[in-house]
Amino acid sequence: MKIVARHSPLAYLISILTLISGYAFISARWSNKSESYFTIEQSSGKHVLSAADEPSRFVPSLHVNSESNISKSTFALTVPSMKKRNSGIPAAYMALDEIETSIDRLLRTYPDLIYREQIGTSTTLGLPIWGIKISDHARESQDEARILFAGVYHAREPIGSNICLALMQRLCSGYGRNEQITKWVNSLEIWFVPVVNPDGYRYIFENSRTFPWWRKNLRDNDGNGRFDPLYDGVDLNRNYDFNWKDGGDDKPGSWFYRGADPFSENETRAIRDLTLRENFVIGISYHSYGESILFPWGNFKRPPDLDLIVNIATKMAARIRRESGYGNYSVLPLNGLVGQSSIWMYGHLRVFDYIVEVGTEYFPAAEKVPSIVDENVHGAFYLLERMLGTGIKGHVFDLHSRQPLLAKIKVRGYHADHVNSRRTEPESGAFYRLLKQGNYTLEIVADGYHRKVLPAVRVEKGEVAELEIGLIRKNGYTY
Ligand SMILES: [Zn+2]
Repeated sequence: MKIVARHSPLAYLISILTLISGYAFISARWSNKSESYFTIEQSSGKHVLSAADEPSRFVPSLHVNSESNISKSTFALTVPSMKKRNSGIPAAYMALDEIETSIDRLLRTYPDLIYREQIGTSTTLGLPIWGIKISDHARESQDEARILFAGVYHAREPIGSNICLALMQRLCSGYGRNEQITKWVNSLEIWFVPVVNPDGYRYIFENSRTFPWWRKNLRDNDGNGRFDPLYDGVDLNRNYDFNWKDGGDDKPGSWFYRGADPFSENETRAIRDLTLRENFVIGISYHSYGESILFPWGNFKRPPDLDLIVNIATKMAARIRRESGYGNYSVLPLNGLVGQSSIWMYGHLRVFDYIVEVGTEYFPAAEKVPSIVDENVHGAFYLLERMLGTGIKGHVFDLHSRQPLLAKIKVRGYHADHVNSRRTEPESGAFYRLLKQGNYTLEIVADGYHRKVLPAVRVEKGEVAELEIGLIRKNGYTY
């Protein structure tokens, strides 16, 4: 019996609450307007900030005394300070050059397991944006399921890079010693972008973090050649091309400024291009803070994979204890009406992409960092194991020539006009798709080929059903 109409906000709310009913902390207070997550009051000497990607109840207002820092933090874009380190940054966080040194060290120690690629160049300072892949035969691209871990979209949220580097270290040092880690590295291609926003990160390190708690990149919005924290910068997690104009803010001075156009920023284009090429199955971006895993999505048409998306988030969250020692991370929906990375990843490519809001503050104190990182590495381990679990994989090719094909893998009952289907990788024809245990009907669709329907594909729990699918060209073959 259906009591409420499909896709009504109430029905959707009930379905989400039912899915995550194990979590006593869930509140239905997400907002239809992402802007409402944020307020800034400049009437007194204090700036009242309440901002993040998570629903506002996880973000206590921060009272930041700006005092004299406004004038000091204005600097010529072309003459950034290189040497000094903001003394307010705990030693647990690494400056950009220290992060690069750590990656160099891993590359030298484990040359067969790591591949490093400059996936882009930052918008304003021209800094490299690094992508690092860990896999056996790391320098080759193999037919393996791929996962992405990214950190530091937002400058004031540095712990994501700590988690990425710790996970990289654990995977490399455990390879050949730990059975599970060896299996993951052999069977997966595990990508990292530890710092998505190097410009903003460097700004935080070299200037005061107490104002303006810098979040965005350093885009010179008014083109005057000088960085003005009250006007410049684009929120990289509002710049993706999926429901872009519905979310963020169109005012350049806003913390949530979405940019002049979708993908206007080098940083988001770098992630976009890597994702289009690698066709990730799961993605994670580490933000801070809120001790929660945010999934795509709430307050937009229901994601067809919602129950599996929530199932994976819930199991991951169960492995990440809160700092207090009481309970684990919460699971909450993202706002679907905003150009965030996860919304584009899922809507455009059906990547199961999550935001993990780490910890209880932007810069957790140094002594808390090791345990926070360790908990989140355990959460990531669950995803690596799940990548090899229940689902389907295989290849689509021209039945006659055996040439690999770019094809859509449609699963009946999981199709939706507002979300693209999983697709194969055109060079290999390979595809991966996570599913729940069950019987499925697949439809394989490629331009110029007859659609192929595979009824009764059985997916067993914990197993990956392998399918080799040949398609017949519509216009026949020339012999
Ligand atoms: Zn963030």
